Amino acid sequence: MARYREAVCRLCRREGVKLFLKGQRCLTDKCEIEKRNFAPGQHGKSRRPKIVGYGLQLREKQKLRRLYGILEDQFRSYFEKAAGMKGITGENLLLMLERRLDNAVYRTGLASSRAAARQLVRHGHIQVSGRKVNIPSFAVAPGQEIVLRESSRNNAAVLRSLDLSGGRNIPPWLQFDREGFKAKVISLPKREDVNFPIQEQMVVELYSK
Ligand code: SF4
Repeated sequence: MARYREAVCRLCRREGVKLFLKGQRCLTDKCEIEKRNFAPGQHGKSRRPKIVGYGLQLREKQKLRRLYGILEDQFRSYFEKAAGMKGITGENLLLMLERRLDNAVYRTGLASSRAAARQLVRHGHIQVSGRKVNIPSFAVAPGQEIVLRESSRNNAAVLRSLDLSGGRNIPPWLQFDREGFKAKVISLPKREDVNFPIQEQMVVELYSK
């Protein structure tokens, strides 16, 4: 599937917020948001204009889409599914994204970014309840176990990521066993488990026009 391959730090600078797209670098003072938090491009240094209405809705949508690394068509199809579900559409959307296998792997700390987690999944390093799953959008469910394949446990990037994350970002819906390189999905994620500043209602308003 096609993916965005340009300099990803530009995306953070566009949104004015850390999207954590570059793994360990995001946690250092080399982060572009730390160094120059203004929009990319010729007029980027001028003060960020106050965004309202359509502009705000668009920015919130882009922020969310870029955070999870999803292209427009797939994002729209998530929205349509969320709109057809019971409950609050924005919340449904957010929680569907959160349940993606690549996101769950990232949340355990096995990968330093969602892109790195996606690669682990795609390359067959991840099993879900005993079966290889190489589909990053696979929606994990309570009771399932997400396991790093035994032959991948010496992977230097995985070990570095685990050391650096130190279990800090594991949300309450996942229970991670560091020694076993595995996580159990103990419940569905809740809205409050997504600690990124996002106004998902704006995305709903944008798509509902
Ligand atoms: Fe964004 Fe990470 Fe780049 Fe910082 S280092 S601008 S958080 S991708």
